[in-house]
Amino acid sequence: MLALFQRYPPLESALPRVPIGQWPTPVTETAPLAASLGCAQLFIKRDDLSAMPYGGNKVRKLEFLLGEAQRRGARAVLTFGFAGSNHCLATAIYAQAAGLGAISMLLPQPNSKSLQRNLLLGHSAGATLREHNSMASITAGTIAQWLRCLVTTHRPPMVIPAGGSSPIGAIGFVNAAFELAGQVEAGILPRPDIVYTAMGSTGTTAGLHVGFRALGWPTRIAAIRVTEEPYANPAKTERLIRETAALLHRHDPGFPAVAPDMAAIDIRGEYFGEGYGVHSAQGDTARDTLAEALGVTLDGTYAAKGFAALLEDGQRGDLAGKAVVFWNTYNSHDLGEAVAGLDYHALPKRLHRYFETPVQPRDRV
Ligand SMILES: *Cc1c(COP(=O)(O)O)cnc(C)c1O
Repeated sequence: MLALFQRYPPLESALPRVPIGQWPTPVTETAPLAASLGCAQLFIKRDDLSAMPYGGNKVRKLEFLLGEAQRRGARAVLTFGFAGSNHCLATAIYAQAAGLGAISMLLPQPNSKSLQRNLLLGHSAGATLREHNSMASITAGTIAQWLRCLVTTHRPPMVIPAGGSSPIGAIGFVNAAFELAGQVEAGILPRPDIVYTAMGSTGTTAGLHVGFRALGWPTRIAAIRVTEEPYANPAKTERLIRETAALLHRHDPGFPAVAPDMAAIDIRGEYFGEGYGVHSAQGDTARDTLAEALGVTLDGTYAAKGFAALLEDGQRGDLAGKAVVFWNTYNSHDLGEAVAGLDYHALPKRLHRYFETPVQPRDRV
């Protein structure tokens, strides 16, 4: 049973859920890295292993989002992301597994190998992929897809915001905090002083914060922003925290009506680099460091930038004596076999350019 439901049983019947993940995800200690960074202990929360065939942080959100789509009787979900969106890929894969269609409304982003792979896999999972290059055009395209779905399935698609960061999606990360608490109780790790995570659309951070407050933990979150500010900022985070806590409190009055404590969340933009989806030198170093220490590969768009912040904070001495958790949000299951033999010519013509132009320089090696 989910850790959240164990503590608050009335939530189980109130919150429909599609089981996708393998919980709890492991926690891995890296003593040599902790020593070199001067922190008391360093643990990696392995959401990279959250599900088969595709892990990562979106699985936690999708369990509740797809449950809600089924409750509403939707036949499909419609969501948003940049062209290489991990969220759109995870949605495509697990919507298909749940018997739902998926529509991905995409915006352009700098080219990378993982972007190419995500497009190929999303298409092969049966998702409708549509890329637009402006807000006006994606809005018009979304209305057209919404209507097309209504006409063909006699049901409107359930609309999932970018990154799955609605209150229902964020509940997946409230559960994650309780899951971590169970691992603390089991003696696997101490209660962390600080958790590092990449921040894209705020759901991971907001959900964890609601969970930490409900647990009465003072644990801080270093949220390393990797998207433009309109997607990830304190006001949006605070609103999502309020709405998520209110939703849980409404379904189970025993769940504490926690208020956001924004002083415990550092949303940091200094690792954003040259832009969304542009790999950075610091991210490359972070990626190599964790690959060497644990054999876990981070992505250059999100997790590598988050881990880069942890590394540099440690090197500056900021983590002295602290118990630190890096929340690894990026899938680490090998997708090479799944992608082999897929042909980009089957994708909508507009997306072919990603396969016909080189990837960004840092991704060429
Ligand atoms: C989506 C994503 C994030 C960001 O999580 P949010 O909840 O959107 O802030 C971090 N890392 C990876 C690998 C992701 O795909």
